Amino acid sequence: MKELCVSPSVLQFQPELSQPLIQEVTDRSGQNVLACYQCRRCAAGCPVGNETGVTPDRLIRMIIFGEREEVLNNLLVWKCVACYTCGTRCPNNIQTARINETLKQISKEVHIEPLLPKVAAFHDAFLKSTSHFGRVNELEFMGLYEMRNAKRALKHGGGWKAVAAQMRGYAKLGISMIKKKRMHFRLSRIKRLSEIKRLYKKAPDEAGG
Ligand code: SF4
Ligand code: SF4
Repeated sequence: MKELCVSPSVLQFQPELSQPLIQEVTDRSGQNVLACYQCRRCAAGCPVGNETGVTPDRLIRMIIFGEREEVLNNLLVWKCVACYTCGTRCPNNIQTARINETLKQISKEVHIEPLLPKVAAFHDAFLKSTSHFGRVNELEFMGLYEMRNAKRALKHGGGWKAVAAQMRGYAKLGISMIKKKRMHFRLSRIKRLSEIKRLYKKAPDEAGG
């Protein structure tokens, strides 16, 4: 596994990388990162900041400094639970959750191995299933999620035994979900699926995977 950025290091301002990175993140996330004045109100409320080593204010500072590699390789991007607490507290209305979504997408486009592959698999399976039905269908979602994890395990030399063990674990989970009536076999769609399709068309890459 690659080295994780869990402890803050001294940031180096990289003028040649700073402007393009700010521009890309601002354009794609719709968040004005330059409005951040580092008050850290976001950091105080972030439920995962302690374990990621990078808080929302720090992530924004990294973007402004042009630290592209660290921006795309840190745990906040993958552990963010999109609770929007940071944005609610921010006096400048900066929604770091949207920045994190943007960074996930950029990482995928430039083929950076996600720090938390299962989170990436969950994310992809969720988007794919939602694009079909307008809501998540548990059966399809679990199938897609398992397939992605199995593919990755095989790619990294996990072998069929490891994959079979993983599948058994998921099958157990599936059975217990069925027993608790949390797994639905009926493929129900939302009423205005065309609206969701339109959203996906606007952001075609989001549904990829
Ligand atoms: S709350 Fe907003 S302005 Fe303050 S540090 Fe966080 S992102 Fe920046
Ligand atoms: S949206 Fe993400 S970054 Fe913001 S407070 Fe919640 S977990 Fe932290």
